[in-house]
Amino acid sequence: MATGNQPIVQLESVAKSYGGAVALAQLDLTVNAGEFFTLLGPSGSGKTTTLRLIAGFERPDQGRILLDGADVAALPPFARAVNTVFQDYALFPHLTLIENVAYGLRAKKMAKAAAHGEAEKALAAVRLAEFGGRKPAQLSGGQRQRVALARAMVNKPRVLLLDEPLGALDLKLRHQMQAELKRLQHDTGITFIYVTHDQDEALSMSDRIAVFSQGKIEQIGTAFDLYERPASAFVADFVGSSNLLGGNRLLRPEKITLLAPGATAPDGYETRNGIVREAIYLGAVTRYHVALAAGTVLSVMESNRLPVGERLRLGVGDAVLAAWPRAAARDIEK
Ligand code: ADP
Ligand code: MG
Repeated sequence: MATGNQPIVQLESVAKSYGGAVALAQLDLTVNAGEFFTLLGPSGSGKTTTLRLIAGFERPDQGRILLDGADVAALPPFARAVNTVFQDYALFPHLTLIENVAYGLRAKKMAKAAAHGEAEKALAAVRLAEFGGRKPAQLSGGQRQRVALARAMVNKPRVLLLDEPLGALDLKLRHQMQAELKRLQHDTGITFIYVTHDQDEALSMSDRIAVFSQGKIEQIGTAFDLYERPASAFVADFVGSSNLLGGNRLLRPEKITLLAPGATAPDGYETRNGIVREAIYLGAVTRYHVALAAGTVLSVMESNRLPVGERLRLGVGDAVLAAWPRAAARDIEK
């Protein structure tokens, strides 16, 4: 989705501890209106705490949180233009889907016909138009998750906070729902702040990603930035896999080509002699482990783009010349 640079959610030097334990240390973060923004990091890194602070379920120990440029310290959760979708989307079992989705509007005293009209539109947006009369027990897990989304979106929040919303779904359903969420976000223009620990999910859905580690943000950027220009060894390792050459030089496995020993690499390439220790054919690509003379083992990902017969077919024990463009090996800071 095209995004301007109009900040909608800002965290300024926000810190939060529980007892003596630091959950967030001095966090600065700006999310722009219309963005699909993802908080990515391992368990315990502070992602949920960040969402709960934005939603107003927690208060920061220090720092400021702004929505649309205004400090929200004094606003309780229901007064913020923010809605949250959790992983365990508790629907009311005795109510129909229409009634579940309309519930919040009815609680705000909207007339029944109007509330049900809005609920029908929200169910149609998540492609459940014909299911309005059903009860939650008559739905699959993926459908229930879509009802939870409709219930959050019917309030027309400026910002939707989603905390690992697809975590309970199997892989195939998760992929379907990822595409569905992306479409919904695009169609509605609602700003999404999405929490996940799954790097593939983050890379495939997000306009920008903040990588969390131990209560701090390691890097904020697009999928391209994080993968091609990781700011730290942590990001390089958490987003994709990588080789560390001597010192802090990082080299992604797919940048390496395996040539016959004694071959001449193109200008600007670095080369090392090695022996194939492992070769795993994966269809579109083959993954190799190549032991270098110095004792390092390189992880290599070769595309199987060329037809059989035109490419080097390598097996365990073969000698190779590993080659990569010098510019593909990047120095990282820490
Ligand atoms: P994430 O969502 O990235 O897994 P959290 O934000 O839930 O991480 O947690 C960050 C840190 O704060 C963790 O060390 C966690 O144990 C701690 N924490 C979170 N909520 C509480 C709480 N209510 N009481 C005590 N510690 C908490
Ligand atoms: Mg969490």
